[in-house]
Amino acid sequence: MNNFEQQDPELFAAIHNEEDRQNKTIELIASENIVSKAVRAAQGSVLTNKYAEGYPGHRYYGGCEFVDVAETLAIDRAKTLFGAEYANVQPHSGSSANMAAYRAFLNDGDRVMGWGLQDGGHLTHGAKVSFSGQEYNFQEYGLNPETERLDYDQILEQAKVFKPKMIVTGASAYSREIDFKKFREICDEVGAYLMVDMAHIAGLVAAGVHQSPVPYADVVTTTTHKTLRGPRGGLILAKAEYGKAINSAIFPGIQGGPLEHVIAAKAVCLKEAMQPEFTEYAKQIVKNAQAMAEVFAQSDDVRLISGGTDNHVMLLDVTKLGMYGRDVQDLLDTVHITLNKNTIPNEQNGPFKTSGIRVGTPAITTRGFKEAEAKEVAQLILETCRHKDDAQALEKIEASVAALTSKFPITD
Ligand code: PLP
Repeated sequence: MNNFEQQDPELFAAIHNEEDRQNKTIELIASENIVSKAVRAAQGSVLTNKYAEGYPGHRYYGGCEFVDVAETLAIDRAKTLFGAEYANVQPHSGSSANMAAYRAFLNDGDRVMGWGLQDGGHLTHGAKVSFSGQEYNFQEYGLNPETERLDYDQILEQAKVFKPKMIVTGASAYSREIDFKKFREICDEVGAYLMVDMAHIAGLVAAGVHQSPVPYADVVTTTTHKTLRGPRGGLILAKAEYGKAINSAIFPGIQGGPLEHVIAAKAVCLKEAMQPEFTEYAKQIVKNAQAMAEVFAQSDDVRLISGGTDNHVMLLDVTKLGMYGRDVQDLLDTVHITLNKNTIPNEQNGPFKTSGIRVGTPAITTRGFKEAEAKEVAQLILETCRHKDDAQALEKIEASVAALTSKFPITD
């Protein structure tokens, strides 16, 4: 028994059980990943003890010489990895990165166009229940109902009428490549700032597997914990001219002391993302998603939204199974496959029941799954839904899940 276990057995057990759950589960939540031991070591380091309000070289506390080194490494690596002129590594989360970006560019009540939540955007892109929709005058754009893809001509027409000060793009549930150059052209035509929230695809962008928004956007925000495979947190990239305003928007605007231990972990993941293995990893994420999509596309039980995927994620309409997305999520939990219910374009069942599920490949790819295993997982999902009332069949599926997870243990 170690000290932690003796000192706090209930909490120790919860963490141990979570580790066990992660080991035994096929993780398909598109926004989750499995970080390296080095990322966890940095995050669990003594840097958590340190207060460091301000920025490297300009702190409000003494003793910051080493956290300055860590934060400067994180900043420099972020700039190098993404080819950005400026980086702020302090946002505690993707939502705080977005809040600071808005505050740096907008005034309360300003008009902004954001990708609607129901069509795959994020809460912080103008939803009424979020600070974003409450403080700014957001108008949402959506997907073309026929193609279930972005319709750039339609977005331009809408922008010409609405005349936003900023257009926000980036999504939580969109399986197609986003053309940031086209968004830049739209913004230029209507005189708007372009903000890109690349939270979901940051790892793909880092590896050159998805077009980078950095050359086109005035400001780019991201989380560091999705495809980028770092600690939970946020990051802002921008043109140098906006650096001062963004720095002030983060501190003292919306945050106090930075989480230097998390920043150190961000530095680790950014270095990892510069390695050739990471490029292979990002390519494999997409190959695995496309392999799964192929299985779903051939099935009569589900409908693959937009007919395929270009990235790490896909959306399935599960209506033909006679189930809501919520029920599919709960059912799959029982066989240790984790994913989430999701609204689909033209959603008829609301955000709680939903008609869809979202399937993502970042975490299984980290475990070492390749196309063959990805296809097997897609089959297992379909089999589970087809045999939802057949205990024996479900037991067999559970055994197949166990075989896969033991063949690909979480090594880090
Ligand atoms: N932006 C996008 C596109 C996201 O998908 C998410 C989270 O899922 C966020 C922002 C928010 O990140 P966080 O949960 O760290 O606040």
